[in-house]
Amino acid sequence: MAERATRGQCEDGGSGGAAVSKRGAKLSGKATRAKSGTPKSSGATKFAKKTIALVYDFDGTLSPRPMQEYAFLPKIGIDPAQFWEESNRVAKEHKADPLITYMHLLYKKAKEAGVRIDREDLVAQGRDVELFPGVLEWFDAIEDYTKIRAESHGIALRHYLISSGLTEIVEGTPIYHHFHNVFASEYWFEAYDMPYPKRVITDTGKTQYLFRINKGVEDLGETINEHMPDADRPIPFSNMIYFGDGDTDVPSMAVTRKSGGHAIAVYPPGKARKKCVDLFNAGRIDFFAPADYRRGSDLFERTCLLIDRILANIRVEEEMWKVAKSAKS
Ligand SMILES: [Mg+2]
Repeated sequence: MAERATRGQCEDGGSGGAAVSKRGAKLSGKATRAKSGTPKSSGATKFAKKTIALVYDFDGTLSPRPMQEYAFLPKIGIDPAQFWEESNRVAKEHKADPLITYMHLLYKKAKEAGVRIDREDLVAQGRDVELFPGVLEWFDAIEDYTKIRAESHGIALRHYLISSGLTEIVEGTPIYHHFHNVFASEYWFEAYDMPYPKRVITDTGKTQYLFRINKGVEDLGETINEHMPDADRPIPFSNMIYFGDGDTDVPSMAVTRKSGGHAIAVYPPGKARKKCVDLFNAGRIDFFAPADYRRGSDLFERTCLLIDRILANIRVEEEMWKVAKSAKS
């Protein structure tokens, strides 16, 4: 289990300041990157809520282990189990945030080892990150499926990443370009003599980014707290599927499902699935499956089932929207 730290749980929509992390659009279909307050469906001439968002956790979900274990920790000669044990212990002893603690300890250890790791080095480390079987082909395969099944025109599919791991390492992975946006922890590199956390994405903080996707407010320089009526939110939760692997995903899964969305939990193929069974029994997820992303796998098939449900729902909503519009005229 690639759980980095044991965290408290909160099921409310989080908020809080964060820095900007914009990415160019990579989409199937013609959807463009949503901006704050647009598109508004209330006065629109076309039904606008036709974008589906697949939202992924990274460590333990797309990759078997925490991303720092593939290059960073070996480079500074630290045993991963020992590192996480120390990080969790220090956080507990000092009542510190476990994620800020790990980000600090990572560079403290690098400094002690006399190893300098800059932003470019972190990005390069992304190449060493292992991905679960089929992850490389997954994005195109799911997009193909959606395209074939979408009977309604204008359906777009987006992939988002929300991770407590490091933006820089994710940037170096071969799947980075598939994401419409990546929300992950990040460093300032010019702070004193050691990099300093610029953005820390905690378990509950992850939910803020779900609301950013939901409201189309993806520019982190813009506040997420302004009220936006459901009718104006470009990606309803019912168009979302959240993929995670454990306790750190509970707030995101709970928010997604309680808001009408969907969630799937994965476990390493051939290994213990107890965590997923617990999530399923607690009603946190729709499905669970081994983290095998290849076409035809249980995960692939179950994701396709949820996409079919979302597509059917979009068709119903679009028809209702048309009826409502005609009823007014
Ligand atoms: Mg995880």
